[in-house]
Amino acid sequence: MIRPSDNAKIDENAITSSEARLRALVAASSDVIYSMSADWSEMRELDGRGILSDTDKPITDWMSKYIPEQERGRVQAAIDEAISLKKVFQVEHRVFRADASWGWTLSRAIPIFNEHGAITEWFGTAADITERKRAEQELRDAKEQSEHQKRVYETITGSTPDLIYVFDLDYRFTYANSALLTMWGKTWETAIGRNLLENGYEPWHAEMHEREIDEIKLTKQPIRGEVSFPHAILGKRVYDYILIPVLDEYGQVEAVAGTTRDVTERKQWEESLAQSSEQLQAMNEELAATNEEQAASNEELAATIEELAMVNQQLQTAHHKIEGAEESLRMAIDAGRLGTFYIGSSDQLFVTSARLKEFFGFLPKEEVSSEAALNQIHPDYRQEVFDMVKSAFARRSRLDIECPIIGHHDGKTRWVRAIGEMQHRDGNDYFTGVLHEITEKKQDEIRKNDFIGMVSHELKTPLTSMKGYIQVLLMKLRQQDDGFVIGALEKANAQVAKMTNMINGFLNVSRLESGKIHIDLKEFDLALLIKEAEEESLATITSHTVVFEPVETTLVNADRDKIGQVIHNLISNAVKYSPPGSTINVACISDLNKANVHVKDQGMGIKPDDLSKIFDRYYRVEGNQTSSVSGFGIGLYLCSEIIDRHHGKIWAESEVDKGSTFSFSLPLSQV
Ligand code: ADP
Repeated sequence: MIRPSDNAKIDENAITSSEARLRALVAASSDVIYSMSADWSEMRELDGRGILSDTDKPITDWMSKYIPEQERGRVQAAIDEAISLKKVFQVEHRVFRADASWGWTLSRAIPIFNEHGAITEWFGTAADITERKRAEQELRDAKEQSEHQKRVYETITGSTPDLIYVFDLDYRFTYANSALLTMWGKTWETAIGRNLLENGYEPWHAEMHEREIDEIKLTKQPIRGEVSFPHAILGKRVYDYILIPVLDEYGQVEAVAGTTRDVTERKQWEESLAQSSEQLQAMNEELAATNEEQAASNEELAATIEELAMVNQQLQTAHHKIEGAEESLRMAIDAGRLGTFYIGSSDQLFVTSARLKEFFGFLPKEEVSSEAALNQIHPDYRQEVFDMVKSAFARRSRLDIECPIIGHHDGKTRWVRAIGEMQHRDGNDYFTGVLHEITEKKQDEIRKNDFIGMVSHELKTPLTSMKGYIQVLLMKLRQQDDGFVIGALEKANAQVAKMTNMINGFLNVSRLESGKIHIDLKEFDLALLIKEAEEESLATITSHTVVFEPVETTLVNADRDKIGQVIHNLISNAVKYSPPGSTINVACISDLNKANVHVKDQGMGIKPDDLSKIFDRYYRVEGNQTSSVSGFGIGLYLCSEIIDRHHGKIWAESEVDKGSTFSFSLPLSQV
């Protein structure tokens, strides 16, 4: 039989041995071990491990001693919850360590119940997770930094029209900016990780770039080139590209980065300039032939031709000069030539790259406010730029402007193009964008226009006097009735008229480009203007039948002369590009708020490919039928500019070998 005292003895032994086991466990563990009273008011530290101080006495101020103030609420809430739900307590929080520094701990405690299911005590461990927390924080910081970096790059590469991309050494794209993805018509997911062939490049083109990547791998030198291929929407395009090695920390090529720029427009201009000078040459020769027929009787003519030859020479020299300037422009274009900026919408904080400061003539380290930058814009453009930026801000629309800037320190004038867009991120609005320098291009444009204007103007004077002489000669010869000479002179007269028309066209282009064309709005009746065109046609067009449909009174508020010029131009083209004897129809039909004028011919028609381009400056359709017709491809360009400035529309519909209809519409004046 066992007496009660024996029982107590056994219990005591059992307790002593389990306590010894616990002690052993405590000693083996690297965590802090503690016990808590049922309501957590008292703590007993079983082993401090340097986080807590070692003591056997229960302490009541453990919360204020170990837990920083800002953490206490959270810890208390977790305690309350564990007590009320009788569940394991677990929380990560900061602690003061024994050496007064602070760290992080993961604290877990389990409730111990009596036989009635009430909590008598808690046993807990506190693991030191300071290192883990620090590593987590560092990871977060690094991630934040790299995301920021990525945002900056995305802003730069996302708002430039240039194509920017990176290849790995297996020729796969590892990066493509949005301009490139748009050009491919692909998304990041369907394009990245694929090679050139898989992204739709022709085999010859893919192989060419693969060879270049191999070469860069070997030489570590950039490669620059030009390539031309058809674009799905824009037709044949010419691209200038540069591929640059990306080196790893050991100086080995690990990737190849590239930028590509569309230089089609520049090429077209070069070509059309060459063409124009050829045409001028051809005209010269024609004139020289006519001149021979009239022989010595017309010394004036000879002088003019000499002058023409000289001007032609000048045109060619200018062409070479422009080519030279284009070349240096090409050299200046490289991947790093973009300046970037962003403006915070709420705080107006203006952040710029060093390159941008350079554009504005500031030093790279200088602080630049948005007002200071704005002040460097040329006074003639400042207000306009300011208004455009303001409106882009307000409407959240895209900004795309070109303007000259006067350097703050160096006083140098630089033309820049700025492209920007409002971006919404992390609850904030930023206006971000890029700038690049276009000084050379601008100066070329200005020089080119001035030159065309000057040449055209100079050509007009001798032509006018020539025309006068020819008319006087014609009058005299008619009295003498010399059929052959009259015929020759009439031909010369027609040639002079043709040339005058072309020169006027050039003069108009140059005026238009330099902003000197003036639209003089007045209310008038379109029906009367068309009537005048009818009378003129009757008097001058004998090769075709021009039918004018009846027109009702149609009041428009427009520049009468300029609209007359458009109608004249469309009718002349219909005559030029349709066979003699065919019919041309002219009609004017109004709908609710606009007048529509149509000029229809039964001519050669225009291919769909060309249809979208005939309104471009200097664009002419190539082909056997058109090569014999003289022109510079500026008539329709001028028409479309004139109609644009009236807020109207101009368009063409055509079927090859059947004929074309050219139409324009103008808003009716409000009565
Ligand atoms: P130009 O007639 O001096 O070449 P335009 O700008 O007037 O220049 O016309 C541009 C081109 O559009 C022409 O070269 C011609 O190929 C085409 N074109 C214009 N009008 C017609 C037409 N009625 N029918 C067919 N082609 C036309």
